[in-house]
Amino acid sequence: MVKRIAVIDKEKCNPIGCGDFLCIRMCPLNRMGKEAMTKGSDGKAHIDENIANDACQVCVNICPFGAIHMVKLPDKLTSKPIHRFGKDSFILYNLPLPSFDKVVGIIGRNGIGKSTALKILAGVMKPNLGEPESGEKDINDLIDMYRGTEVQKFLEKIKSGDITIAYKPQAIQLLPDQVKGKVRDLLEKANQNGRMDEMVTRLELSNVLDRDIEDLSGGELQRMAIAATVLKNANFYFFDEPASFLDITSRIKVAKLIREMANYHTAVMVIEHDLTTLDYISDQIQILYGEPAVYGIITQTKPVRRGINEYLDGFLPDDNIRFRPYKITFSRGIEKHGQTPVLFEWPDLTKTFTSFKIKINAGKIHKGDVLTITGSNGLGKTTFLKMLTGMIEPDGGELKDKVRIAYKPQDLIPQAGTVKDWLDKVAKDHDSGWFKQNILEKLSLQTIIQNNISDLSGGELQKVFIAVTLSQEADVYAFDEPSAFIDVEDRIKVAEVIRDFMIKKETCAIVVDHDVQFLDFIGDEMLVFHGEQGKEGSVKGPLGKREGMNEVLKMLGITYRMDQQTKRPRINKIGSQLDITQKKEGKYYYA
Ligand code: ADP
Ligand code: SF4
Repeated sequence: MVKRIAVIDKEKCNPIGCGDFLCIRMCPLNRMGKEAMTKGSDGKAHIDENIANDACQVCVNICPFGAIHMVKLPDKLTSKPIHRFGKDSFILYNLPLPSFDKVVGIIGRNGIGKSTALKILAGVMKPNLGEPESGEKDINDLIDMYRGTEVQKFLEKIKSGDITIAYKPQAIQLLPDQVKGKVRDLLEKANQNGRMDEMVTRLELSNVLDRDIEDLSGGELQRMAIAATVLKNANFYFFDEPASFLDITSRIKVAKLIREMANYHTAVMVIEHDLTTLDYISDQIQILYGEPAVYGIITQTKPVRRGINEYLDGFLPDDNIRFRPYKITFSRGIEKHGQTPVLFEWPDLTKTFTSFKIKINAGKIHKGDVLTITGSNGLGKTTFLKMLTGMIEPDGGELKDKVRIAYKPQDLIPQAGTVKDWLDKVAKDHDSGWFKQNILEKLSLQTIIQNNISDLSGGELQKVFIAVTLSQEADVYAFDEPSAFIDVEDRIKVAEVIRDFMIKKETCAIVVDHDVQFLDFIGDEMLVFHGEQGKEGSVKGPLGKREGMNEVLKMLGITYRMDQQTKRPRINKIGSQLDITQKKEGKYYYA
């Protein structure tokens, strides 16, 4: 078995950009006449891991696009590869195991093989068992490989036609290119089990039924895709990132819907980075660990609490494998907000449009603090931000000083050129040691700084937008959904980078987001938006962290407790003893 692998990320390899195959020209082994690095027929660099020497790493360090990886696999790895995309491409080990009557949650970094694993299980992609040169294998080879295990039993059912799969893909933003027509037509076509009216109501799709799919927002597309999946007659449903683009209340509605689907005849599997949603949806967890874009390994099934805790710990006691050198912790120590001078304040504000009105209480933000904003979409969060900047004039209330806001929008429209070109254009001191060390390195952007922005993944693009926002001169830094598209590790890093920046620069941030765990971790104070979507909005706050979180959880009808081991907030199962007691006492938040 291969214990060391070398991978070239073909998406990142840019032989023209690096000045004509820099790695091939500089490889010490090639200079000695060996062929460790070669030009492939696809116009990209190729590496032979049987020749390359992992102690050398010249190519890894020299590639300006971070395209080359040479890593050792864990010594204790006993699984066989399931799929390798090419001789020097990503390898996946093991398959997830669906379970009837259960929702199995999959947790792991972006680019670690979650979608690949699910596509293989769904039969959308045929695996090659790690031997790309010998071609695709059929289901009998997979069955042989898993003989004597639960996975074998599941694969036998797929083979005998007893499993029908319904799949909600991750990349819903691609749907408008793939399916044309009205939402109603798509749902009617999918409506095999006759639950269309129920789904339209539960997923709040009635207003968009006669709209063209290409005119839907991200949240509407997501709800339509979830509805279409639920409407299929299947006994294995899986949902790849169902919370993306959804607001905080929709996340919980979708989580409740998905939980209800698992029964004696039905297995459900979910991939999700929003830990609150994942924790709430899942009965069991499988971890996918490894190195993004290089290899991914799926663990056996674990109970939810243990699975998420082991993931955050970065250590798998059953296998004695440490897969991350640090623990992810949600404990922030002593809260310090409200003790620094006020940076700016706003009076009571009102604004009325033809069919929408909003009322906001007076408030203030202190230096170094992060004010979080949450609530359903269509309640005026963006209108509030625009009033602060002076882009929208309020009808009632006057802002003494208009503040300069550096704003990260929700929609990330890629610029032309490289990340460096963009930073050169807009960022004052992105070349300074401080910016490099505290922003670019912490967000792992140094290795992609020469890459074209249009080639970045969703998560990379989000982090570039955050870095660009932080590089502006401003009084207030506002971020609309900074957690979108990024995995748990990066959510924590983004939160730390934003918090540290505000303290160091004695300025403040406003963060609009829908991931409760992220809000809990990043925020000092909260504004909670209530009202009727698209008609009227009102705001509670600014509230202290405890009060604000209590307000959000009350609105969602869920209660939290604290996991003693990780200090991670966890959702109480609805109707559990703790849930009932906390609701009775009005203590929705554990603190
Ligand atoms: P995840 O769903 O965990 O984000 P994916 O399963 O989409 O990860 O991909 C895992 C890795 O496999 C990616 O980082 C990418 O490098 C590689 N990969 C995915 N699809 C292909 C492909 N068609 N050809 C080559 N490599 C691929
Ligand atoms: Fe150039 Fe990096 Fe591609 Fe090698 S891997 S050809 S150094 S871009």
